Amino acid sequence: MSATSKGAAKVPAARMQVPLLDLKAQYLDFKAELLPLLESVYESQHFILGKEVTALEAAIARYTGSAYGIGVSSGTDALLLALMALDIGAGDEVITSPYTFFATGGTIARVGARPVFLDIDPRTFNLSPAAVERFVAEECEARQGGLVNRATGGKVKALMPVHLYGQCAEMQPLITLARAHGLKLIEDAAQAIGSEYRGKRAGSLGDIGCFSFFPSKNLGAFGDAGLCTANDAALAERMRVLRVHGGKPKYYHALIGGNFRIDEVQAAVLNVKLPHLDRWTDGRQKNAARYAERFAAASLTGTVTLPHAMPGDRHIYNQFVIRAPKRDLLKQYLADAGVGSEIYYPVPLHLQACFGYLGGKAGDCPESERAAAETLALPVYAELAPAQLEYVVDVIRAFYA
Ligand SMILES: *Cc1c(COP(=O)(O)O)cnc(C)c1O
Repeated sequence: MSATSKGAAKVPAARMQVPLLDLKAQYLDFKAELLPLLESVYESQHFILGKEVTALEAAIARYTGSAYGIGVSSGTDALLLALMALDIGAGDEVITSPYTFFATGGTIARVGARPVFLDIDPRTFNLSPAAVERFVAEECEARQGGLVNRATGGKVKALMPVHLYGQCAEMQPLITLARAHGLKLIEDAAQAIGSEYRGKRAGSLGDIGCFSFFPSKNLGAFGDAGLCTANDAALAERMRVLRVHGGKPKYYHALIGGNFRIDEVQAAVLNVKLPHLDRWTDGRQKNAARYAERFAAASLTGTVTLPHAMPGDRHIYNQFVIRAPKRDLLKQYLADAGVGSEIYYPVPLHLQACFGYLGGKAGDCPESERAAAETLALPVYAELAPAQLEYVVDVIRAFYA
């Protein structure tokens, strides 16, 4: 489908190529430091749970303001391990946002629990505390010292807010609810390393924080990797044991775990990149501010809606996501002009075919559905040049002209 065929403005010649993310530019930043370290890992031939993993776990724990870090194989496995460690399974329910990457809901279902998808705050795209409060007050009751969903009879065991696009969910009301009803709090912080809520870092706000080092995250590995944070020593130890099939001592299994280990090679990459992270985050924040300035200068702020950063909190802009009229045509128009963009996420989880058994239907989470129809992520990576950013805004202005 070409934009012109639908009556949109004529496509300008691609004057510039602006990818959604340019990892090659970042690689040049740390390559010289990394190659000798990788060589030392290769020379050691020690690939599993060695000193790079130990160093990374300590460094990320410190960076996120948490007591413990447990390196794992991916962000998805971090969520899975968190749910397993908190003993969440069949008959249990976990409240989360439907407007997120699939893993958030997928892992809840994979442990045999029921995801309860509640709507988002349209300003931040994060789980709405008001929606959670309403669900707990109107659809649940206290029974046998726990919280039971009256319609299903399931035990509501945990809240799993997502810090979407790099901004923390509104945590205080969720923490209050969790305390009042004995719920566990798992942060899906896959997109939020270094994000802050009221001065506290993502991953230190709940019982377990789950991070992803997928290459497109702000701190990306050279493949899949992730990490769980915790402040409770016993919970951290339980995750360490579950990470190696539940064997402790080795070959003696009181628990059924899995292979959720992170590789030494990935840990080495992350150890080299972590000291650069604040500078890269700063670059993303400057680009977000520059977008705000350029969109205003182009008189587009009445047309598109820019991201809303909660005052006082630290947004790390894993994604810079706007709401745009005629979003799909705009995306095509940008692509024709050489600009990468992406739709995160086109189908909210309560409407995914695989979750049909939960009985979700259109209209259940109207703000999530509206976000899925309106949002578009633009390039915001640290190495994005001012001229490239201005070009992105120029192309958007031409589209709406
Ligand atoms: C990336 C991501 C995950 C999963 O992380 P992987 O490392 O890709 O398994 C989970 N939740 C959210 C919100 C994510 O963005």
